[in-house]
Amino acid sequence: MFYEEKCTLCGECLMKCAYLAYPEEKAKAEFKKLIDGESTPVTSECITCCACNMYCPEGANPFDLINQRQEETGTFPASEKSLGMMSMASQLPPEVTKGKPGKPVLNLCTVDFVPGAIEGQLFDGLTITKGGDYFCYIGWIHVGKPSMVEENAQKFVDNLAKVVKEVGAKEVICYHDDCYALLANKVKEFGIKLPFKPVHIIEYLRDYVKANKDKVKKLNMKIAYQQPCASRYTFEKDKMLDELFELIGVERVDRKYDKMGALCCGGAQGGMTTFPKEEVEAWRMKNLMDAKEHGAEAMVFLCPLCALSLRSRAKAQDMEPYILSNLVRLALDEKLTVGGAGKVFE
Ligand code: SF4
Ligand code: SF4
Repeated sequence: MFYEEKCTLCGECLMKCAYLAYPEEKAKAEFKKLIDGESTPVTSECITCCACNMYCPEGANPFDLINQRQEETGTFPASEKSLGMMSMASQLPPEVTKGKPGKPVLNLCTVDFVPGAIEGQLFDGLTITKGGDYFCYIGWIHVGKPSMVEENAQKFVDNLAKVVKEVGAKEVICYHDDCYALLANKVKEFGIKLPFKPVHIIEYLRDYVKANKDKVKKLNMKIAYQQPCASRYTFEKDKMLDELFELIGVERVDRKYDKMGALCCGGAQGGMTTFPKEEVEAWRMKNLMDAKEHGAEAMVFLCPLCALSLRSRAKAQDMEPYILSNLVRLALDEKLTVGGAGKVFE
């Protein structure tokens, strides 16, 4: 939700945006147009990375206003393919694999794309949900239709709550940052009460490692982290990520395109009709070369879509790709049956 009363029209959001990078006066003027509901190129140029919600010094959530105007004006250039993918996600057949009674539910949403990612002791006994019934709809912000998120939020919560009750769980672990953004942030705006506790996968992994310190073999590895767009809604858990990295002996390289400066993996940008492939590719390479130049030996992903987007390109730059949970499994001395981030195309 955009908080107009907090906005001082400083223009920081559009000045710091890596993609728009407007000069100060233009940034102020275009943001004023957004507030006043006037036409502005921002609605078609913004790639929906959510980063300006973090850039805003007042906590006004500028991206939420941009996204709202994108929908109202219909000016966001979403490709037919991305719109089709969003519609398809809610049609995916639902699947519930019941675990031990009382153990948490792990929601894979609709992003169970990385074979071999949900294996091993970390997931023993968890009940696993996935498919259209367990889709959080946050992805719709990337096609310029945020109203779909609110319209479907209660249904998503109710579907999870039903499984939680059936298996006597208290917690839902969110494998995807999008689901956590919805359950830990957006539901408050929508006035939805949760009958369970949402737990971010990072918190779950950190706590698991803390409780099993004796099993950990420190990896002594330098990695670059690819931060998901939706992480900006609940960035406070980034401290837990650093704790987790320390526990497993991993150094997160201090690079330009991480944390505040993180770039889109190319997925959201590539889903717009306005960017030629070469331009999307150039942004991806900037991101990867930044990681490489800062000494990363591996590229770590939380979001499976980011992994699909960058895993082969990272490998081509001699950085081994890992889904975060697989990196933890490596530290627990487990074998990765399908590599760190599924199949990599050489
Ligand atoms: S969401 Fe990302 S691309 Fe859009 S204006 Fe904000 S920082 Fe720029
Ligand atoms: S939304 Fe925040 S960063 Fe953007 S103009 Fe308003 S106060 Fe400044």
